Amino acid sequence: MNGIVVVGTGQAGFQLGASLRENGYAGPVTLVGDEPGLPYGRPPLSKAYLLGKTDAAGLALRPDAYFAEHRLTIRAGERAVAIDRAARRLLLASGEALAYDHLVLATGSRNRPLPVPGADLAGVHQLRTLADADALKAALAEARAVAVVGAGFIGLEFAAICAQKGCPVTVIEGLDRPLARSVSPAMAALIETSHVRAGTRFLFGRAVSGLIGPDRVRAVALAEGHEVAADLVLVGIGILPNDDLARAAGLRVENGVAVDAMLATEDAAISAIGDCASVPSPHAGGARVRIESVQNAVDGARCVAARLAGRPAAFTAVPWFWSDQGPLKLQIAGLCQPHDRAVRRGDPESGSVSVFCYRAGRLAGVESLNRPADHMIARRLLQTGRSPTPEQAADPGFDLKALAL
Ligand code: FAD
Repeated sequence: MNGIVVVGTGQAGFQLGASLRENGYAGPVTLVGDEPGLPYGRPPLSKAYLLGKTDAAGLALRPDAYFAEHRLTIRAGERAVAIDRAARRLLLASGEALAYDHLVLATGSRNRPLPVPGADLAGVHQLRTLADADALKAALAEARAVAVVGAGFIGLEFAAICAQKGCPVTVIEGLDRPLARSVSPAMAALIETSHVRAGTRFLFGRAVSGLIGPDRVRAVALAEGHEVAADLVLVGIGILPNDDLARAAGLRVENGVAVDAMLATEDAAISAIGDCASVPSPHAGGARVRIESVQNAVDGARCVAARLAGRPAAFTAVPWFWSDQGPLKLQIAGLCQPHDRAVRRGDPESGSVSVFCYRAGRLAGVESLNRPADHMIARRLLQTGRSPTPEQAADPGFDLKALAL
């Protein structure tokens, strides 16, 4: 028996190993990851870790002893370079080949590069790994003015940290609002207001044409000629799925490794989970989605582990996500985009509000700001397929919890 080989020791890869053991799988499990060290969680990298509220040990998904106890072999610092599907072998950069009965691709994603001159200057950072966070943390301690390119989740979380630390920060975004692809305009407006109150400056509808050095960055150049002075720049313009291994092996790739409702590729011996997988989702009317969240990585891993342990079931888990930005705790249940109607529950002035998003008359998702009870109810509503009318959702007197139970 060759057992199960996993490429990637991130959130999804780790969970796959853990869930295989929870499901009673007794065969060999090997996780190959190109980062050093044991699996760790990324969310604190843009939050507590930068604030010094947790350290590298606090990021660990499990203590060292767990892996030996559960017979999970971690091959850290090793890169997988090819899949020999005919022979069922994974080839490593070292030249070694690992034979598998089943291969799980949990290769995650990488930062989208900023395609302008100066993007590689000293002082220009990205944030994906612990090593990135260490470099960014050291740079922030010295920074006098920060520019963030991209008003996505990572950019906004970092902007909130800068504001908390009293460092002037400007967020430059090509679209007309923050989180334009991720949240409703109503929620984006609330989030923008809170960041502005904390001291963050936004420049919307601006394209970055270059980063100005000569050696270290000193400013961000905008397309219309204006410059934003900054000695630290964080680029957060989205991520790209790590699907090259799958593509080179002749597997279908469609904005990520294309899998079916069971998270299997067209090769019955290969599955894909987490950020790298493109999945037909019942929460998007069967359309393919590629979700970048801890929940998606964890639930996808659980789904594949159960199948490999003999209990196959389709991947139907309700997607959910959170982002902490200074005083804001944003939680999203379901897939809100696109939606054709949105209603608010709660008073925006109170700082605690949810936006219920509807698609073709049915609840598609709920965005909650500092309103965790709504988030939990929304997950339950979406799981059970119960959809309050927009009027009910907007009515503070309507008992949503009773509908969800
Ligand atoms: P990853 O965690 O990226 O792991 C993939 C691993 O595979 C990586 O270590 C990669 O180096 C490795 N790998 C890739 N190719 C190879 C290869 N060929 N050989 C060997 N190894 C390889 N999500 C939330 O829900 N809430 C949050 O608040 C949140 N905050 C975040 C903050 C930051 C700074 C970041 C970066 C992400 C955040 N996320 C958050 C997203 C979440 O962390 C990801 O969705 C999750 O980590 C995806 O897990 P994964 O295992 O699919 O990918």
